[in-house]
Amino acid sequence: MTTPKLAGLSGMQTGNIYCIGRNYAAHARELDNPVPSCPVIFTKPTVSLTFENTVTIPSFVKEPHFEAELVVALGKKGKNIPPPDSTDMIAGYGIGIDITARDIQQELKEKSHPWFLAKGLDEFAPVSSFVPAARVDKHDQLTFTLDVNGRRRQNGDTSQMLFPVGEIIAYLSRHVTLLPGDLIFTGTPEGVGKLLHGDLLHADLESGLVTLDITINHPS
Ligand code: ZN
Repeated sequence: MTTPKLAGLSGMQTGNIYCIGRNYAAHARELDNPVPSCPVIFTKPTVSLTFENTVTIPSFVKEPHFEAELVVALGKKGKNIPPPDSTDMIAGYGIGIDITARDIQQELKEKSHPWFLAKGLDEFAPVSSFVPAARVDKHDQLTFTLDVNGRRRQNGDTSQMLFPVGEIIAYLSRHVTLLPGDLIFTGTPEGVGKLLHGDLLHADLESGLVTLDITINHPS
């Protein structure tokens, strides 16, 4: 079985899905988490990825949350790539939602267990199509928004990241070999909240550069 192709990036297939936690100080604080001194890394399995417009959340998840995030697609293989060369690894930019079972995550945190079962469920990583990096000037000054049912809930500005994209790629590449098609969810700004059955999500990167529309299906 092959992984899905990344829309907007000619023929490129999805690789690993890396995610950054607590990359915006205001979001770390809103969940009473410490502001980290190095990037917080976790992964999602490829079955989390979806390009469909409906996301189904299992009924055993009681408190699903949205987290809108800039998603970076890598176009090259690389190991130990320091900035500024690390940003040359980027093939494209998209917008995604790091769907999180906050109730399960809380239980896992209390046991000091990994977050996997709160973050890595089927369809927990919906992603837009990607705009090629050549069409984006300033990856460290991108803005994005999330509206839920027409109401603005999150405003992101990548200049407020604790660890900018170039540093994230450098840090990851010190530990693992990065591959073409790998995706990085780069963290969410403040304003995360609960998803309800029937919610309509509209995420936008750079005022319409790419958008993502999702309907939440959460059978009770
Ligand atoms: Zn996140």
